[in-house]
Amino acid sequence: MIEIWAVGGYSEVGSKNMTAIKVDDEVIILDMGYNVSKIVEYEGKEGEEIVKLPYEKMLEMDAIPNDSLFHEEWGDKVKAIVIGHAHIDHCGAVRLLAPRYKKAPVIATPFTIEVIRNLLEGKKIPNKLIPLNPSSKYKISDKITIEMVNMTHSTLQTVAVVIHTPYGAIVYSNDFKLDNHPILGKKPDYRRLQEISKRGILVQISDTTRIENFGHTPSETIAREMLKDVLLRYINRDNGIVVTTFSSHIARLSSLINIARQMGRVPVLVGRSISNYISAAKRAHIFSTNAKVIGFKKQMHKFLRKVQKDKGKYLVIATGNQGEPDSVLSRMAKDEFPFKFEQDDVVIFSCTVIPTPISEANRNILEKRLLEKNVRIFRDVHVSGHAAREDQKDFLNLLKPKHYVPTHGGMDKLAIAADISQTLGYELNKTVHILQDGKRLVID
Ligand SMILES: [Zn+2]
Repeated sequence: MIEIWAVGGYSEVGSKNMTAIKVDDEVIILDMGYNVSKIVEYEGKEGEEIVKLPYEKMLEMDAIPNDSLFHEEWGDKVKAIVIGHAHIDHCGAVRLLAPRYKKAPVIATPFTIEVIRNLLEGKKIPNKLIPLNPSSKYKISDKITIEMVNMTHSTLQTVAVVIHTPYGAIVYSNDFKLDNHPILGKKPDYRRLQEISKRGILVQISDTTRIENFGHTPSETIAREMLKDVLLRYINRDNGIVVTTFSSHIARLSSLINIARQMGRVPVLVGRSISNYISAAKRAHIFSTNAKVIGFKKQMHKFLRKVQKDKGKYLVIATGNQGEPDSVLSRMAKDEFPFKFEQDDVVIFSCTVIPTPISEANRNILEKRLLEKNVRIFRDVHVSGHAAREDQKDFLNLLKPKHYVPTHGGMDKLAIAADISQTLGYELNKTVHILQDGKRLVID
């Protein structure tokens, strides 16, 4: 018998992803993520890094999944913890939660494992960390084998985790987009997914983050062209240009490095989290660059003093796309570095604002500061990393699961997913199931 426990991630976007699958008497945990807005709020207010806080405090803050009841009831049955990709709302809580299931190894693609190592900041956890490449399998027990199937998203080595069981396959694709022309890495492994589908997929669990968007989410190559369209207008100019994007978006960073060179500018990546992600990618042998990467504050001061003297020479790629108060861009805007924004300098936000009150407020403050200095602002030079409505249909049609469990959204998004699946023949509460955090579902 298969049972699903929606521990977290089913009640809002970007928050506390954690699902458990019980196959008879063995349990696999999928993802252990942070509640990102709580982290941003805490770090902004306290000026202290979240990594210093213990489990109890994080639970009290609602910053990690509440696994108390789950731990009590299923804790001793957990055989493995599998992490689907490197975003912190999926892997951030590993350092606090995984030790509670200490016999279970943490399995993820090499890049994700390296990002988890960064998040541990040298702290040891009792769990074994097992890197597993896309397109490979790992046998957990006589009944359970894990397979990583390559997918596309906004960070590298994102996979659909497939749990092969005697009752059929369970496909966990949280998060995903269908990008047939990715900048780095391969397109989704449709052929393998089709093979698995032919043999029978019992359950599909997948994200609904952008399901309200009509049509298809454009490829990452479109984001590159959008950036070129803005940036190449500034060739042969001597104004300051700062671009900010998600630090984990290695493909986007790679495009920016190339465009900077095309402009005749020197690309420099500035910020601790950018530096962490770039070093994880390098250790996982999936991306390396000879562009300068600056992760320490002292070096940032030194470098930005140089930029101030010769603004037209550099393209600064900095942290702070959500206006996080302690990020490089926010601190530049507050004149905390020897760099002064002035008339006609350019700031490009290669991202969208995450629709949470804290991110919206932070970005407002940052943009106001920049506008006061007459900086030119370009917003939303970006494409999403999540599947839109028609992609969602295509994915369901490809996998043809017997049961569909949408996740990674509030009730509004999960309801759209249920509606869409009903047009494809699924029936609410019979073959499409809306779960909320803490709910359980028996599949028979
Ligand atoms: Zn993600």
